[in-house]
Amino acid sequence: MFTIKGKTTDWEVVIGLETHIEVLSNSKIFSGASADYNPTVAPNTQACMVDVAMPGMLPVLNKYCVEQAIKFGLGINAEISKHSRFARKQYFYPDLPQGYQISQPINEPPVVGRGWIEIIGDDGNPKKILIERAHLEQDAGKLKHDMHPTKSFADYNRTGVTLLEIVAFVDLEKPDEKQFVTSPDEAEKYLRQIREIARALGVSKANMEEGSMRADVNVSVRPVGAKYFNERCEIKNMVSFKFIKNAIEYEAKRQIEILENGGTIERNTMRYNQGDGTTSILRSKEDALDYRYFPDPDLLELEITDEDIERIRKTMPELPSATRARYINEYGLSEYDATRLTETTDISHWYDTAVNGKKERAKPVANWLISELFAHPENMDITNEIREHTDPDAPRIITPENITELVDMIASNEINGKQAKEIFIKMLDGERGTIHEIADKHGMKQITDTGAIESAVDEVIKNNPAQVEQYKSGKVGLLGFFVGNVMKATHGQANPAMVSDLLKQKLAD
Ligand code: ADP
Ligand code: MG
Repeated sequence: MFTIKGKTTDWEVVIGLETHIEVLSNSKIFSGASADYNPTVAPNTQACMVDVAMPGMLPVLNKYCVEQAIKFGLGINAEISKHSRFARKQYFYPDLPQGYQISQPINEPPVVGRGWIEIIGDDGNPKKILIERAHLEQDAGKLKHDMHPTKSFADYNRTGVTLLEIVAFVDLEKPDEKQFVTSPDEAEKYLRQIREIARALGVSKANMEEGSMRADVNVSVRPVGAKYFNERCEIKNMVSFKFIKNAIEYEAKRQIEILENGGTIERNTMRYNQGDGTTSILRSKEDALDYRYFPDPDLLELEITDEDIERIRKTMPELPSATRARYINEYGLSEYDATRLTETTDISHWYDTAVNGKKERAKPVANWLISELFAHPENMDITNEIREHTDPDAPRIITPENITELVDMIASNEINGKQAKEIFIKMLDGERGTIHEIADKHGMKQITDTGAIESAVDEVIKNNPAQVEQYKSGKVGLLGFFVGNVMKATHGQANPAMVSDLLKQKLAD
């Protein structure tokens, strides 16, 4: 468990994330303007009359965006509300021409209700993180203050782009059921999982660097084992995993210091200062905004039928959670292995390609991936960019087909595990070719010819009379010694299982 040492007690951290993802769709949530917002587009060329709130303009809900929200909801095991509404969240700021943001009311069920996702917790076990809700809303525009000494400029291209806000659930009634994020690392894992689900479903690019994913981070602290929650602070608008982790740690320590000095935590809104890694107060409780939510009279109530939900469910690809269940139930993998292999869809696709439906490959391929390849991610083509290999010194990309071949050659006794490992290392060192080619080139072939193995076994027994004596008088642990010597004598090429069997037979005589 992640704890922070205090003066008199250890403290644990309670974290509730509000994550915004930008929904992928051609047009915006309430207008027909292009939603392909990106920084290279000239300012205000993708903002229409609705977006800049010209009088008399009416919003029309984009059905596709609603479907995207439902898809995501199904992806996080959530209840989908049959009825939900849109409301005006009032605040005045020049990036918001309407004078309000259309969102979904906080005191009513939004389109996506309670759900959960699973991460690997700090203790190495799978951990459920509850989600309270996910609602649809509009994004605001962007202000530019660095273009003129005395003027600010507004770009409304992003205004009205669809956001889905996913609010994690800290159940205040169940202070000892820790189905929420409790450490900086878990916060990162939670966000990565949200990102994976969004990407797997095509709901969002969910890319923090590009701004299509950002998070507000609520942090509170309590003494380890406490059966209550303390007041929280919310750190606004975080756009990098590293900053989020730093901010949580700093903020938690700040609160601990206040509490240890007899103070109380006020529910403040904080900003994170990238320069020095500190958090500081952006708005205090007294300045808290009153958004005066009220239902938007220009928009109809959103109604979703069971048929809608089923139709959308049918279009969904297999999600990380289902993939995980398949690995456990059909392939017999451990929960740990299954979770590691479904951390990203790139990895699970890679794994599925290598296994290619052959159950007998499932475990060995998982082992190669988790214990060997994960240590050399630069050799795996599972990152976003597909690397070109014109550079002869570039690391060799190991393909799923390579591992299939490796695993199959071991299974068919063409090479043994030790040789496979050597071939693997040669590939990491840049050697090109199929596994068969590399094995042939280095004369690696497993000796499965009983006669050849037998003579090596006899030789080893003859040369080590003292050890034979000890073995026969009960020191059976020496078997490894004999196997090792036979393997050495055969230059590592003998089939170790056959060696061991033959040795046992002969030494029993
Ligand atoms: P607000 O409108 O103030 O942002 P929300 O309900 O939208 O409040 O979200 C607040 C977030 O903080 C949720 O994820 C919630 O689960 C979480 N949260 C609530 N209480 C605590 C607490 N004591 N410590 C940490 N997080 C909390
Ligand atoms: Mg909030």
